[in-house]
Amino acid sequence: METRKRLYIGLLVSSMLIVMLLVITTWYLMQNRDIILSKILLFSIIFILGAIFVILGIGILSIIIMIIKSKSFSSLDSIIRIANDVLFPITILTGRIAGISKDKIQRSYIAVNNNLVKSKKLLLKGSQVMILLPHCLQDSDCPHKITMDINNCKKCGKCCISDIIDLGQKYDAIIKVATGGTMARRFIRDCRAKGVIAVACERDLSSGIQESGLLPVMGVLNCRPNGPCINTNVEIDKIEQALLTICKGG
Ligand code: SF4
Repeated sequence: METRKRLYIGLLVSSMLIVMLLVITTWYLMQNRDIILSKILLFSIIFILGAIFVILGIGILSIIIMIIKSKSFSSLDSIIRIANDVLFPITILTGRIAGISKDKIQRSYIAVNNNLVKSKKLLLKGSQVMILLPHCLQDSDCPHKITMDINNCKKCGKCCISDIIDLGQKYDAIIKVATGGTMARRFIRDCRAKGVIAVACERDLSSGIQESGLLPVMGVLNCRPNGPCINTNVEIDKIEQALLTICKGG
């Protein structure tokens, strides 16, 4: 987990250095222009890039401080979100150039996100938390419609859904099974959850976390012994750990 966090923060800082390089290049161009209009134009570009750089810099610094101190500063939540939203695609690109796989960067992003949620030291009730599951956790031969209602599961034990139901009952948490992003967003809106434990693959988790805004989302990666999107699995302990993190202040 430490390596994952370091990777993401390293890529964030590298992305910032790239932006800084762009600013310096533009400045250099400006020095070599004689036409006044070009100078004004270039100066405006530098001003805008400089402002973006300062905002993103504060965002990155806040992330690093929050992780090191394990302490949240709610006033910085929005700026952290902006920094993450803007820089995430750049970190993917930087990682690609450095030969790091997208999955690895996304895992790192999820680990950093989980750490930021942990630093908030939330004390939610189980009933305020939604465990959001992907449909592929259900055994592909199971005839029961658990997307309508998780309680349609007959708890035969052929897939991990029965164990997750037991865990949900233990903490009084809401459990929903979604077939896609639209359904997941609807569940979150309708249930008015104050926190989410989302189980999914790297891609879906990182995009879900990005879309969640200020709603705290703990990401738990699924296991895919049969390839993506079919008969996947998840470690129940990891879901319980995530539940404890947002219900017992980390
Ligand atoms: S545990 Fe539930 S969801 Fe899984 S196969 Fe059995 S009845 Fe279906």
